[in-house]
This record gives sequence, structure tokens and C-alpha cells, in this order.
Amino acid sequence: MHKTLFFSLLFLASQWTWAADKPMLRDYPAKQVADKVWVIHGPLGFPSVENQGFMNNPAFVLTDAGVVIIDPGSSTAAGEMVLRQIAKITKQPVVAVFDTHVHGDHWLGNQAIRDAWPHARFYAHPRMIAKAKAGAAEEWLDRMNRSTNGFTANTRAFIPDLPIDQDRVITIGNTLFHIDAPPKAHSNTDVMIAVVEPGVYFTGDNITYKRIPRMDDGTFKGSAAACIVAKTAKANVYIPGHGPSGDASIVDSYCHYLATLYRLAGEMYEEELEDYEMKPRIVKALHAYADWSGFDDEIGKHISLAILEYEASL
Ligand SMILES: [Zn+2]
Repeated sequence: MHKTLFFSLLFLASQWTWAADKPMLRDYPAKQVADKVWVIHGPLGFPSVENQGFMNNPAFVLTDAGVVIIDPGSSTAAGEMVLRQIAKITKQPVVAVFDTHVHGDHWLGNQAIRDAWPHARFYAHPRMIAKAKAGAAEEWLDRMNRSTNGFTANTRAFIPDLPIDQDRVITIGNTLFHIDAPPKAHSNTDVMIAVVEPGVYFTGDNITYKRIPRMDDGTFKGSAAACIVAKTAKANVYIPGHGPSGDASIVDSYCHYLATLYRLAGEMYEEELEDYEMKPRIVKALHAYADWSGFDDEIGKHISLAILEYEASL
């Protein structure tokens, strides 16, 4: 047999074994949202068997020095899927990864990037790094594995080692990444990333669109402050943690939801209404969001959290 053919067959065989052993995430297309910036918009909804645990918005930026990934997804399979989409666009190496916050649906894909590109640098907020090490990584691996019925079982947590905080600017190639780190916003581990040129702003879950996120680790007031920071950036394109990208109106939309909910909960608290009495009124006031994914699941919890936060502020 011809030597090259023999090795090709051997290679093919090994690929097949690999495919059989390894969970593979279905492909989602990368959409170019600005010069040198692509986003893979994940499906809406919470992690499930159906979506293979994949539901965030991984993105990548091409710089002169190589590719920079933001939030490589919820599992090793998701990170591999992100790398497949990148490979369709460039042969450049991946040189850096930014993780926007500690929630595992955004960063458990790190391991795939680390395996493929061992020299890539991994950045996150210092509290993200500390919390991930203190148990959040294990907790999220478990949560993701349970919600996908074991699809993500081979995923390991690769925790970033390079801390980034407010106003840090990281230059990669000729591209500037400016960091905002609003405290106590969505998760108290959050960074938002401005790619100064061409004016793209990655909000993490401080902003979501068409999807109501969990607020269990966040505060309404901190989230409102993050809204102002995001708006002040005056970006051309905003990339939310979940849901479609868009202009500044997507920031307004989510921030209006939070502000309305918190204001009404506070007002009705002063009227001495109970949660269950508040709920129908707040649902009515926020009817424009009723078709957002997660609305029915989260609204009750959001009201309870808003009351607790309001009470604590008195
Ligand atoms: Zn989150």
C-alpha cells in the first residue's frame, strides 16, 4: 500500500474512534457583527438535553496577533464547536480567552481552547477566579452534567489565571480590549469588554436580550449601574450574554425590565403588599417581556429578590 494512503486511512480510523467516544455539539454558525468580530448566538433557554447545555453567545475577535475568544461556552464540546467555527474563518492561533463571569455556561468551554492552544492566555475578574476555585467550578460542572443528562461528563474546568479589573486595557496585536467591572451586578464576578475599534461591547449577562437571566447571584441596583456603564460606552454593537446582538436599544430594553420590576416591588412593599399580591401587577406592567425566554420561570424569584434587596436598603 502507498505509504501516504496508509497513514491517511490510519488517521481516518482514529478520527472515527474519536467521534464515537466523544460527545459532539451540533454546529451553530458564527455571524459577523462588525469588522473582525464574530458571534455564535446560542439558543435561548436554560441548559437542557435538547440544547446539549449550549445556550450562551461565544464570540471571537481577529487581531494581528491571533484570535481572542470571549466566553467559549458551557462544555468541552462547546469549546470545540467554537474552534470549528473559528477554523472556517482563519488559520490564526487562539492567543487569549476572556471569561465574562463565573457562571459555567459561559466558561466551561475553556478546557477545549487550552488543549488546542496551550499558549493562550485566560483572563477573568479576580472574584471569578477565586469563586471558581472555591467550589463554583465543581458546582457548575455538576449542574451542567445533570441538566444535559451526562452530555458534558468529559468536561473539566480550566480556571483562568490572569485577573482583570476596572479600566484595565489589554492590547493584543493592534486591538484594544477595555475592561469594565461593575460590582454586584449580575454575579459579582462580572467583566464587560469593549473592543474599542470597531466599537463592539460585550456585556456578559449584565445585559441579556429576549431572555430573562437568573438574578440569584446579583443585585438590581448593581445591575442598574452596569446598564449605565454599558450605555456610556456608546458602542455600535452590543453583544448580550444571551440572545440576539443589537444596538444600544437592547441595553435599554433589559434595563427597563430591571428598573420597572425593582421600582414596583419597592412601591408595593411600602403599600405592605405580599409577593403573591405583587406578582400579577408586576407581570402586567412587564407584559412586553412575557415572550422572553425564562420569563415565567424567573419573574416570581426576581420579585422575591427585589423585595429582599429593597428591604435591606432601608
Ligand atoms: Zn450568568
